[in-house]
Amino acid sequence: MKYISTNKKAAPVSFAEAALRGLAPDGGLYLPQSWPQLTSSFFDNLGQKTLQDIGFEVSRLFVDGIGNELLKKIINEVLNFEVPLVSLGDQVYVLELFHGPTLAFKDFGARFMSRMFSALRKDSDEDLVILAATSGDTGSAVAQGFLGVEGIQVCLLYPKGKVSYIQEQQLTTAGKNVEALEVEGTFDDCQRMVKKAFSDQLLNEKMQLSSANSINIARLIPQMFYYYYAVAQLRDEDHPPIFCVPSGNFGNLTAGLMAQKTGMPAAGFIAATNTNDVVPKFLESGEFNPQPSKRTISNAMDVGNPSNFARIVDLYNGEYQQMKRQIWGASFSDSETQQAIKKVFSKHEYLMDPHTAVGYGAVQQYIRWEQGYFGESASTPKIILSTAHPAKFKDVIEPVIGAGIEIPDRLKACLEKQKKSTVLRNEYGELKQWLLNHYN
Ligand SMILES: *Cc1c(COP(=O)(O)O)cnc(C)c1O
Repeated sequence: MKYISTNKKAAPVSFAEAALRGLAPDGGLYLPQSWPQLTSSFFDNLGQKTLQDIGFEVSRLFVDGIGNELLKKIINEVLNFEVPLVSLGDQVYVLELFHGPTLAFKDFGARFMSRMFSALRKDSDEDLVILAATSGDTGSAVAQGFLGVEGIQVCLLYPKGKVSYIQEQQLTTAGKNVEALEVEGTFDDCQRMVKKAFSDQLLNEKMQLSSANSINIARLIPQMFYYYYAVAQLRDEDHPPIFCVPSGNFGNLTAGLMAQKTGMPAAGFIAATNTNDVVPKFLESGEFNPQPSKRTISNAMDVGNPSNFARIVDLYNGEYQQMKRQIWGASFSDSETQQAIKKVFSKHEYLMDPHTAVGYGAVQQYIRWEQGYFGESASTPKIILSTAHPAKFKDVIEPVIGAGIEIPDRLKACLEKQKKSTVLRNEYGELKQWLLNHYN
């Protein structure tokens, strides 16, 4: 399988090169050159398959240069937690993606990618420097996913004062091969600095840089697994589901589209955002206008210029009408998000984190539209991807529901550790100098 850049100006590359480079040399993002199909035998007994079975079969389509046995071992190691599909009734489901070590769905990408990098680089003697901008959850998943992995250094940039206390502790207390840089700016500033570093000739001569953001194709591959696993758990061959994806950089939604390209049945997708709503606006008007990011209570989705938008456009060959038919957009304010948390808690005794609650709001809006359109409640199952554990957003949720939330043990451990970080001004030159001093 070859990978090509969305900008179409760079040569096709192997999986190893696409994964280790992150961004293509022409500034585009890598996507598979063709779409292998899962066979009918895969679908015939999909309902009996485990997440690990699915993970192996799906990744085998996209990963070259790693033998079956090692790939299986990696998959089993990565997917060592459950991914339950919880029913809220009336054909609404929640796919809980937060049972990994950092309690957010980004564990899938980070755990898979770290092991891919390690396997693909086993003969190299130079350390790889992973550079990642994070609005919170990416960083903690990357820190955990790569912690102690041989031959790899990790450098995380996060916006100072704009991540939650728990997120900051997760980012800054990992130690070992993980460094945290606190940037006096927004997430978009962090992302811009990282992008600049990747295209900086001097830096690239001095060190081998790679990304761990959702621009990396190796992060998206494991995110296809759970879409299939949701369909497997649904066991409803007559009604392909619609997936509602709380989105920021749109890596998660892109992975769903990729799964669909390999044959996964889906009635469509709902792009759910907070007030950082450039994609829902685009779906409405056909115009894509990136904006500075705004702060919200679903802060992992505070993205004003979603990096995976280029992939989505490419997957639809730029055909806006096609996109509009398949992706339904909706956006929500903080107060609507709080209301959704409250409503789900009182109606279903189910606690949603703010990101998942944005997804819930979008599904409710979709159902109202569906009823207007079809005149009754349609039988399409709606699956909300639940991207984080509510305890990660304790500060936001507790006042809303008027009750305390228990923090799971695996989250508690980092809260007692000493924060260790370096503050950088919002200037690319500062990052460059720090990298040269630190890794050269
Ligand atoms: C990163 C993140 C998102 C957004 O995912 P994208 O792939 O960037 O669209 C949503 N919810 C949570 C909790 C996240 O950490």
